[in-house]
Amino acid sequence: MDVVDVVVIGGGQSGLAAGYHLRRLGLGFVILDAQPTPGGAWQRAWDSLHLFSPAAYSSLPGHLMPPQPGETYPDAGHVVSYLTDYEQRYELPVIRPVRVAGVRRDGELLRVETDSGTWRAGAVISATGTWSRPFVPAVPGRTEFQGAQLHTVEYRSPADFAGQRVIVVGGGNSGAQIAADLAHDTQLTWCALREPRYLADDIDGRALFDHATARRRALDEGRIDTGGVASLGDIVAVPPVRAARDAGLLKAQPMFDRLTPSGVVWADGTTAAADAIIWCTGFRPALAHLAPLGLRGPRGHIPTDGTQAIGEPRLHLLGYGDWTGPASATLIGVGRPAREAAREIAAFLGRSR
Ligand code: FAD
Repeated sequence: MDVVDVVVIGGGQSGLAAGYHLRRLGLGFVILDAQPTPGGAWQRAWDSLHLFSPAAYSSLPGHLMPPQPGETYPDAGHVVSYLTDYEQRYELPVIRPVRVAGVRRDGELLRVETDSGTWRAGAVISATGTWSRPFVPAVPGRTEFQGAQLHTVEYRSPADFAGQRVIVVGGGNSGAQIAADLAHDTQLTWCALREPRYLADDIDGRALFDHATARRRALDEGRIDTGGVASLGDIVAVPPVRAARDAGLLKAQPMFDRLTPSGVVWADGTTAAADAIIWCTGFRPALAHLAPLGLRGPRGHIPTDGTQAIGEPRLHLLGYGDWTGPASATLIGVGRPAREAAREIAAFLGRSR
């Protein structure tokens, strides 16, 4: 059984950002990642997915993402290359594939049990993301529908649905982007719980990050909460979404009431036949490995103060969503909470430099 200062669980962007700061502070650590290859969830993106920010605004601490030739907004493959290079550049000790099954208290240490052995650590950073926990709402009739049902994570390209009747569910960024992707080659119906709210066309991830930064500053200084990025709208009008919307191809319908064997039915009795339904209905944090610690709060999250779990000071959570730090689930936003987590752990272990 290996003993280290810190075990980082998850080798996506959040785990790497944590590793960067742990290394700078001179802590001994390993990063355990369930994927066989680097890149975290970006390896699972659909073919046409591009970032909603330019490369320089999508960078982890220490090393700017290089621009992708010919693309203002890099694609997912470019992000995978960047993350691969990042972990090599900083010689981050990522061990893969290793899946963590459980984290338990073990005297003064935490015990990390995996499918490839056990580690004991003075502290644990959990950075397991959300993509392994796709969420599909419990709509009546879901099991009766005879066509294909996919979640965002399983969608690849419009070629798989050419000429088909496809219903895309979800009024967020994934729903809008996948609907735009399918708008030309399929008979598309796009359903959302409420009328889609586009951010202004000139707002991309840069402005979102600036907004999150201003909010954090306001909160830090005890000023009035300016509201999360959600207050600006739900959908970044990236070029393909804007083009499909402006061509009149992205008209959202209200959410249907239930599924039937051949399609969907709205409350007023209107029906639509479908060959496939694509659920772009979000994700939940992948926290099952932390269940033995008994820390889950009422919303399924683990309550934190910054990144530190309130019920277990040796545990930090990184990424996941704004509840672990403003913009913490973005490439550029995770750097700051990663630094704070590393510093707090160093202080906790009495290893501050
Ligand atoms: P992940 O990338 O999911 O990495 C977690 C890693 O942990 C994975 O490798 C996983 O296999 C591993 N893991 C999980 N469970 C275990 C376990 N039990 N044991 C060991 N390993 C485990 N952000 C931006 O900055 N710009 C964008 O343009 C952008 N676009 C997005 C578009 C979409 C459709 C989505 C869904 C998100 C987007 N994001 C964007 C948000 C964010 O950058 C990603 O969700 C990002 O993947 C989160 O990184 P992470 O490291 O926290 O998690």
